[in-house]
Amino acid sequence: MSESTVRIGLVLPDVMGTYGDGGNALILRQRARMRGLDAEIVPITLDDAVPDSLDVYTLGGAEDAAQRLATRHLTDHPGLQRAAQAGRPVLAICAAIQVLGHWYETSAGERVSGISMFDLTTAPRESRAIGELVTTPVIDGLTEPLCGFENHRGATTLGAAAKPLGRVRHGVGNGAADRVEGVVQGSVIGTYMHGPLLARNPELADYLLAQATGTNLEPLDLPQVDRLRRERLAAAR
Ligand code: GLN
Repeated sequence: MSESTVRIGLVLPDVMGTYGDGGNALILRQRARMRGLDAEIVPITLDDAVPDSLDVYTLGGAEDAAQRLATRHLTDHPGLQRAAQAGRPVLAICAAIQVLGHWYETSAGERVSGISMFDLTTAPRESRAIGELVTTPVIDGLTEPLCGFENHRGATTLGAAAKPLGRVRHGVGNGAADRVEGVVQGSVIGTYMHGPLLARNPELADYLLAQATGTNLEPLDLPQVDRLRRERLAAAR
């Protein structure tokens, strides 16, 4: 591993790997390598302290019980919090949005304190939100619709410091009346989209990689990715 290697933190795949969101780290590594950059995935498990020195971090979804273990670990080893404060990009999927908030309530009605990287809280919905989710991004630098697969019981309410990632065109998203989806706060992005998300949204993958490397990346011409996007967007209609 050279000094210029892009180091991608895959945070707690042992407890937050249920929904295949580890694929986001694979996509980041592959898209970096296709630009001729060295890139490595650094898995961070429950046996490891969380390093604050990586270039970009990804966290995936999980069931309520696994989510609790992750919350405790990230509280005891606050490397992710330090990395975000230093402006490192972090991508948090589904349960990870909830863990990174102030608190979340499980389906059983138990309230668990989060790590307060996001100004938000999450309470259970009456029914589970499952299906294709499509949004229009509302942050600078993203122009293409975002799409993914949502599968959650949580309804997330954003506080003043947290901005939405997108406006819902199809699906549920955060579940509030304002029909927004996901969250952006500083360099940290959260979304309910599985897929994995970055396989389906290359613009967002490159947005994160550009932040991680501090460089502008030339576009990649990958017709198979365009086909996948067209297919999934059509499935949502
Ligand atoms: N356990 C959480 C919920 O149901 C998150 C699920 C997930 O990550 N897909 O809301």
